[in-house]
Amino acid sequence: MEAAKDMQIQEMKAPRLVMFPLPFQGHINPMIQLATLLHSKGFSITIIHTHFNAPNPSNFPNFHFECISDGLSNDQALNLEPLTLASILNETCQVPFEDCLSRLLSDGTDGLIKCIITDVVLHFTGAVAKKWGLPRIVLRTNSASSSGAVAAYKLRQEKGNISIKDQQPDALVSEFLPLRIKDLPDYSLTDPEMLERLVANVKNSTKASSGFIVNTFDSIEASALEKFRKGYHPLPIFAIGPLHKFSPGASNSLLKQDHSCITWLDKQAPHSVMYVSFGSLASINKTDVVEIAWGLANSDQAFLWVVRPGSIRGDDWVELPEGFEEKTRERGWIVKWAPQQEVLAHPSVGGFWTHNGWNSTLESICEGVPMLCCPYLWDQKVNARYVSYVWRVGLQLENGFERGEMEWAIRRLMVETEGKEIRERVSGLKENAISCLRRGGSSHESLESLIDLIMSF
Ligand code: UDP
Repeated sequence: MEAAKDMQIQEMKAPRLVMFPLPFQGHINPMIQLATLLHSKGFSITIIHTHFNAPNPSNFPNFHFECISDGLSNDQALNLEPLTLASILNETCQVPFEDCLSRLLSDGTDGLIKCIITDVVLHFTGAVAKKWGLPRIVLRTNSASSSGAVAAYKLRQEKGNISIKDQQPDALVSEFLPLRIKDLPDYSLTDPEMLERLVANVKNSTKASSGFIVNTFDSIEASALEKFRKGYHPLPIFAIGPLHKFSPGASNSLLKQDHSCITWLDKQAPHSVMYVSFGSLASINKTDVVEIAWGLANSDQAFLWVVRPGSIRGDDWVELPEGFEEKTRERGWIVKWAPQQEVLAHPSVGGFWTHNGWNSTLESICEGVPMLCCPYLWDQKVNARYVSYVWRVGLQLENGFERGEMEWAIRRLMVETEGKEIRERVSGLKENAISCLRRGGSSHESLESLIDLIMSF
């Protein structure tokens, strides 16, 4: 049945999908993975992308790439807070996107365009698709559980102020169980009015779309997905994650990955290394870097630490504290950017100290790696709460960056019985993720339904 459908698509002279990712690492990766998956099902792929954070076409010789102007210099884009940049792109990309689409439509040689698939945040694409009579499907790259994030943030502003005064940041929020006040998402870097406008536009354009893809899987987020389905009814929702497992190796790293860490990991004992990385956007204070360094050094555990250039506020790089190198020379490795999926799959890695971006969270679960959660902003706090409290596959650092707490948490995760129990639970989730992808599994079925929908256009 499935093979017959694939064949039917191939016989149709490769129907084309036009895909447009939001230009951030954590959004580009899942879109490229989705494109790779759909290409393997017989579709031709055109990726429209901005100048800023452009993917490297030579990594994907089977795709056709179209670069459009985003109206910003690289420096301007880099210096904008990410949600502010997303809002601006929704304005500056509209005309170039429309021009590009009209050119692709008039130049029919590349095959019939079945639909466009865009990041959910790029809401302006809804109006463009409507104008050209093209169906539009959106991709959400965050978890389903964090979908009420902005409503929750408003609540945080109201309740947070009261409760922090009352010193009750641990109080549960009945409207958003199991979140506590301190787990409510943090959008404090974004202008509130701009955020509200962005969210309303995203919601309206999503409701007017033809389908909603979410990079998650049923067995981990069943109840959140059900709420999600009710909230967007009658829009078809397709939970087809974890996408990186459907399309292994199909990421587009914006920074050069340093593979020296794999050679170093090869020399370490099984499950002995704590991998430390806070993703592509988080930035931390110099004082926090010093605390992290001492937390790692004093834990006596081996570690691989990603210190991304630009991730330290106000500096390109930071001098690590005196005595740190001497203390950790035999058991530590620092890189600027790692091949993260390969690292997490390495048998020497025993824990992931993460900011809990949704991609990192899924990647850790899929390799059965216990997490030390240190969320920074946005939906990461929600993900961290699910990891540590609901799925119980990680420990959460509750007091920010404090060397004593970090040292103890690393040891709990890496050498104590508690860590072994966490490893068993995360191995269970890993199995669940893999079964969702198999024939008959929920993500596999959702993918089939998605293809049926596309073919019905
Ligand atoms: N990543 C990577 N190398 C690193 C750190 C991160 O390739 O050294 C990748 C990681 O595998 C993930 C993405 O960057 O796919 C980060 O996405 P995530 O949603 O976790 O966080 P964000 O960067 O959006 O905060």
